[in-house]
Amino acid sequence: MHEAGLMEEALRAAEQAAREAGAERIHRLRLRIGRLSGVEPEALRLAFEALRPGTIAEHAHLDLEIAPVLCRCRRCHVEFAPEDFVFLCPRCGIPSAEVLRGLELELLAVEAS
Ligand SMILES: [Zn+2]
Repeated sequence: MHEAGLMEEALRAAEQAAREAGAERIHRLRLRIGRLSGVEPEALRLAFEALRPGTIAEHAHLDLEIAPVLCRCRRCHVEFAPEDFVFLCPRCGIPSAEVLRGLELELLAVEAS
């Protein structure tokens, strides 16, 4: 499962950040998932449930933020949020857009003490 590996990586990064801050417990983790990242939020939650026992994030909350897609037209450079998965420029109507946002998986914040 793709999400298990991603969650493991995110958890390791969070633990490292917490330890560097001198904290012993992680209370909250916040991740941002792009709508086009291919990551299933439910699968990510399940992976978190499976991985957290025995870690300093054992009792942590997992907040998932779904990031919308943002595109830029390659011809007129207007930026727009597509309604669905056809990225038509609202100004020139051509389906050729560069995806600026929506592909990411980011660890946004770690609350620890
Ligand atoms: Zn355009």
